Amino acid sequence: MDPVGTWPLTPVPAVVRRFDPPDLPYGAGHRGVDLAGRPGQEVRSALPGQVTFAGRIAGRGVVVVDHGPTRTTYEPVAASVSVGTAVAAGAVVGRLELAGSHCQPHACLHWGWIAGRTYLDPLRLVDAAGPVRLLPLTGELPAEVGSGSTGRRTGGVGAAVSRGVGSLARLGADAIRARAP
Ligand SMILES: [Zn+2]
Repeated sequence: MDPVGTWPLTPVPAVVRRFDPPDLPYGAGHRGVDLAGRPGQEVRSALPGQVTFAGRIAGRGVVVVDHGPTRTTYEPVAASVSVGTAVAAGAVVGRLELAGSHCQPHACLHWGWIAGRTYLDPLRLVDAAGPVRLLPLTGELPAEVGSGSTGRRTGGVGAAVSRGVGSLARLGADAIRARAP
């Protein structure tokens, strides 16, 4: 059972790049998700916890919040909290920076969720990870899209789309290249 967290950016941001855990510990992948934002935007802790890192790593501002069994990471962020600060879910931990963005020339928040040494999909914290579903490239959207069904549509050639029209809108172009399960 995943904890229920809050989005680190408000309003609910577009997911620019999804979670893609590497096959090997040092392999290629994406150890978190990138959320579209603007420089200076407030960044919030997804869960209550305690700040265990607030500083710069290789020039990039990083904030880490410990939640007990897991921790969340936020970057590039100019921290407004210090190590040891207790934060509530939704509490501001800093402001989004452009330097170090994974989405250059645009600003975005790289949001990570880690249990020990294992990277998890932080979208699970906001119930946005969801199963991937297939939609036909042409024609009407299947009737069940947006109905809350979690069934997987296997018919038709198509773009993979996360569940629900709301998710589709948030994912934008990312949905088009989302991986099949
Ligand atoms: Zn990233």
